[in-house]
Amino acid sequence: MKSLLLALLATAAAVPAAAQTATPAPATPAAAPRTPPKLVVAISVDQFSADLFAQYRNHFTDGMARLLTGVVFPSGYQSHAATETCPGHSTILTGMRPAHTGIIANNWLDQKVGRADKTVYCAEDERAGGDHEHYTPSDLHLKVPTLGDMMKRADPRSRVVAVAGKDRAAIMMGGHTTDQIWFWGGQNFISLAARQEPAVVTRANAAVGALLARPQEALPLPGYCTALSRPIAVGEQTLGTGRFERAAGDAKAFRASPALDGAVFALAAAMIEDMKLGRGPATDLIAVGASATDYVGHADGTQGSEMCIQMAQLDESLGGFLAELDRTGIDYEVMLTADHGAHDMTERQQQRAMPMEQHVAPAATAKIIGAAIGHDLGIAGPVLLGPETDVYLADSVPAARRAQVLTEAKRRFTAQPQVAAAFTRDELAATRMATTPPETWTLIERARASFDPERSGDLIVLLRPRVTTVAAPAPGYVETHGSPWDYDRRVPILFWRKGLAGFEQPLSVETVDIAPTLAATIGLRVSGLDGRCLDLDAGAADTCPAG
Ligand SMILES: [Zn+2]
Repeated sequence: MKSLLLALLATAAAVPAAAQTATPAPATPAAAPRTPPKLVVAISVDQFSADLFAQYRNHFTDGMARLLTGVVFPSGYQSHAATETCPGHSTILTGMRPAHTGIIANNWLDQKVGRADKTVYCAEDERAGGDHEHYTPSDLHLKVPTLGDMMKRADPRSRVVAVAGKDRAAIMMGGHTTDQIWFWGGQNFISLAARQEPAVVTRANAAVGALLARPQEALPLPGYCTALSRPIAVGEQTLGTGRFERAAGDAKAFRASPALDGAVFALAAAMIEDMKLGRGPATDLIAVGASATDYVGHADGTQGSEMCIQMAQLDESLGGFLAELDRTGIDYEVMLTADHGAHDMTERQQQRAMPMEQHVAPAATAKIIGAAIGHDLGIAGPVLLGPETDVYLADSVPAARRAQVLTEAKRRFTAQPQVAAAFTRDELAATRMATTPPETWTLIERARASFDPERSGDLIVLLRPRVTTVAAPAPGYVETHGSPWDYDRRVPILFWRKGLAGFEQPLSVETVDIAPTLAATIGLRVSGLDGRCLDLDAGAADTCPAG
């Protein structure tokens, strides 16, 4: 897959490779390069939990293995409670927690919006109409600049590109001023409204289209995956032994397979080549969103043949991408992390020493509890609205009754055996943003980090650990994330650059530390961020600015 696409795209976009002659190594190599890299490559692997990283790090032999020779933070934290894709991606290159990025969830409620379900998608412009499933992709809701935006502000010659399997990954990492932004649209790569398709994207779409039109045979099962390949009944499905064979033209199966990452890395490599990123007067940035791990996790769980093959293929796709970068001779810096973690589906967990794992019961939802409150207090119409964590009081609840309804909602949610805590917006607004290590945060501190008074619910409801918000498994959706618990918060953070001496720091850091860390390596001054600069120099020198 990887080699096929890269070959297609590389041939189409071939330019002579830059000089490959290595500079002679000094007698005592410095621990970190002193000059800024020419290209920053920021990669997010969607749902790549610290637990998956720990499980597979010794099996990686290609791209991931190379990154493991760099600076490794195995205990990175998406420190907030709303561990979903959009909030997670919004922290990676902004240096800000969701409370400041404004991206509090994938979807939230805006009762003023003129659409039936009042739901707004994080990466859309709802003013253009549609609904949260048929929408106009946009950076409208991201309240802060990204690293790319800051780079362009400091030097307009910097170019910023984002390529991803999901629009929200590309938009939240790319920001407001991307030169190119392309994401998977279900059949091909698409962009924001009014963006012209460059020839390189047309070529990539033709290559991916041809691949999609052919049937796919089963992918190889690495030896270390054999023990994981064991059937499990999950609802109506049998999972656990899948190998990603698919029929010609099956775009849905393509998306939930390693092929999606292959396409994303191939397009990213082709765009670097075509735009000559890393060869201009200023440092450029490309953000890459590898989304397949998340689709595979949701569809097949984390502990079967499917995720094992996905990890092997991701390693290979990433390796092919880095090899293309090497071929250009550019001095590039790579950062790889994830938007959130996850853990395996309830059914397999129950078989594997976790009998307490549960699906959420309908009794703990806004709909059921809201209806009961409306009935008992004699309030007509809907009382509580909202999908999962964020619960909103309906605008139709009379002003004089709102405090009473909120108190009653908190009491009834908290009384649910599956609910760990329910915090009102006043309680969250009165909580200070934590400054302690993220694994020590209280639940309300976690919720505070993804609370935005303009967008969050009136009540934030957090389920107990080992209760999933998947009420019943369905095709494509057997496990999920989004909880305030560490299996959803912990992600690896890796930095690699030629000449950077590797080290491992097992203590916790945060994904909001990534932007100030990368900014420092390119000599860009940033301030006022939630994160801090991480010193990537293994020795006495410091890659962070003094003071
Ligand atoms: Zn997900």
